[in-house]
Amino acid sequence: MAQKEVVIIGGGISGLSMAFYCSQAGMKTTLIEKENAVGGSFFSPQFSSNSDKFWLEMGAHTCYSSYQNLLGIVEGCGIADTIIPRAKVPFTLLKNGKVSSIMSGLNIFELLRSAPNLFFLKKENMSVRAYYSKIVGENNYRNTVSHFFNAVPSQPTDDFPADMMFKSREKRKDVLKNYTFKNGLQSVALTIAAQKGIEVHTGSPAQSVSTSGGKYVVKTADGQEYAGDALVIALPSAPAARLVHDINPGLADHFTKLRYADVDSVGVVIRKSNVSLKPVAAIISPNDIFFSMVSRDTVPDDNFRGFAFHFRPGLDDNAKFKRITEVLGVSLSKIEHTITKKNVVPSLRVGHKDWASKTDQMLGNVRNLYMTGNYYGGMAIEDCVSRSREEFDRMKISR
Ligand SMILES: Cc1cc2nc3c(=O)[nH]c(=O)nc-3n(C[C@H](O)[C@H](O)[C@H](O)COP(=O)(O)OP(=O)(O)OC[C@H]3O[C@@H](n4cnc5c(N)ncnc54)[C@H](O)[C@@H]3O)c2cc1C
Repeated sequence: MAQKEVVIIGGGISGLSMAFYCSQAGMKTTLIEKENAVGGSFFSPQFSSNSDKFWLEMGAHTCYSSYQNLLGIVEGCGIADTIIPRAKVPFTLLKNGKVSSIMSGLNIFELLRSAPNLFFLKKENMSVRAYYSKIVGENNYRNTVSHFFNAVPSQPTDDFPADMMFKSREKRKDVLKNYTFKNGLQSVALTIAAQKGIEVHTGSPAQSVSTSGGKYVVKTADGQEYAGDALVIALPSAPAARLVHDINPGLADHFTKLRYADVDSVGVVIRKSNVSLKPVAAIISPNDIFFSMVSRDTVPDDNFRGFAFHFRPGLDDNAKFKRITEVLGVSLSKIEHTITKKNVVPSLRVGHKDWASKTDQMLGNVRNLYMTGNYYGGMAIEDCVSRSREEFDRMKISR
């Protein structure tokens, strides 16, 4: 039988994990990514000053022992030895100009009064606000916990489905509870892309999809054409809808119903001696112009510290840098490197599972079309890889 040819659009972890599974199964796998490098929300730019090299996470930053499908790929690529622990530094709250622990923002009496609800309240069909107001108390939720939740997908999360925010999954006992990678998460993306059997085309977006002679044909902005027996869309919902429109307007229409949020991330690298802020994993500042600041203090460096601020979209640079220098207590002249990144995250709502099962129903009627991303089972890395695994299993049984 002829070797199956698969074209995958989108080089984030969703597309890359699918590429890994397809190439391992001996399929001829082509992956198209619009940026110059793969990774999507796995973006760990490297900075160098003289002989020093330093990386900073501008998107995802933490993996867990429960990420079993991801770990399977990491092991399959032979890079399990690049897993490193994260230093135990606190997640903090910035209130009235002072950095303190998250716990200090909680009213303990209200917390103790509400916590027993944890044992009988079910998350299904409840919003984050409805569920967690009952678990931690309404005031604790409004004043502190909601801001912590907002920091996870960098947008207001009151209306998110409670059962899609933090999922409990089976953990692997032989792996660190939480970890990162020696050269940042993007090193995982780059390693997957370099696997035998995966052909990667970067630097030009997929612009159209059509069918011809029983194959899917993808055209990119630079005029190239890629044909495959099967097509995998691994994109945020808006570009996914645009591309699918020409081959299946019904599915495209279904995708336009999904909401999403843009996140404007700005990273800064500063010499260690120039920052007096105590080491932190992250700072969450209620009702601020940024949802979170995630630091590199979890992987301490001898010379530099790095901080990624995840801002609400649409702010000008002056406002962003004014706030960065205020929060870090440093002047602009002390910032050695800056980098920006635009991330896209889904805005999930209660009832999202119905949207996802309708997607699967619709896909069941389209030959050799597969869709993965961070808006099926959830937006955590493991949700993306698990979705790819499920779509790959569906692909294996279709001939
Ligand atoms: C700031 C931030 C922090 C996070 N932290 C964590 C964390 O610590 N742990 C965790 O588990 N999860 C975390 N997440 C969530 C997780 O990282 C993401 O859900 C996941 O990485 C998304 O992967 P993806 O491949 O679905 O999408 P993306 O990473 O968005 O990848 C989509 C890719 O498609 C490409 N693309 C778009 N249009 C086209 C086109 N027309 N043609 C070709 N390519 C195109 C994009 O350039 C991009 O590379 C975080 C997310 C963000 C934004």
